[in-house]
Amino acid sequence: MRLVILGGPGAGKGTQAQLLCSNLSIPLLAVGDILREAIADDTELGKLAVSYVETGELVPDPIMIEFFRRRLLLWDVFNGWVLEGYPRTAFQAEELDFLLSDLAQEIDWAIWLKVPTEVLLSRSLERDRSDDSPEILQRRLDLYREQTVPILDYYEYRNKLLTVNGDRPPEEVQQDILKVVNS
Ligand code: AMP
Repeated sequence: MRLVILGGPGAGKGTQAQLLCSNLSIPLLAVGDILREAIADDTELGKLAVSYVETGELVPDPIMIEFFRRRLLLWDVFNGWVLEGYPRTAFQAEELDFLLSDLAQEIDWAIWLKVPTEVLLSRSLERDRSDDSPEILQRRLDLYREQTVPILDYYEYRNKLLTVNGDRPPEEVQQDILKVVNS
């Protein structure tokens, strides 16, 4: 099963992705965490990404695409994955499809956690992360609206979009997702 989780900052992407991974026994590729870890470890990827992550900007596409080109070749993701935080733009969605078609793979579902903006804002402000300060958060919300929302059209056109009301307790959201992906 190959799943993509879409939603704004604070939509519950991380929580739902983790639950899906344990319920479906597939690995999680959480791009924000991968980038933060790479920065903490000062790896090659971390050095390239640090200035963007610290300001809430998207890391440039060539860096992300190259990362996935290498990552999706590793054995642990051969049978499927849940991807969280990628793609974040329609361009990344298309690039991901190109890459997957090279690997003779296909996404099963793009799951959109639909949550009102006020809820995204209040949930994110409750977290205590350095890239969740009010100014950076506003920038992340703007980027979400401008760049991520067009991805929904991309997947809908390909009949891959699964829209879920994310403004509910996490277990309920998860059950809704499982009903569809397991059917
Ligand atoms: P997240 O924890 O998913 O909100 O991501 C934290 C930060 O990582 C973002 O503000 C971006 O700087 C960077 N990032 C995460 N995903 C991507 C992506 N798909 N493309 C570019 N940058 C990303």
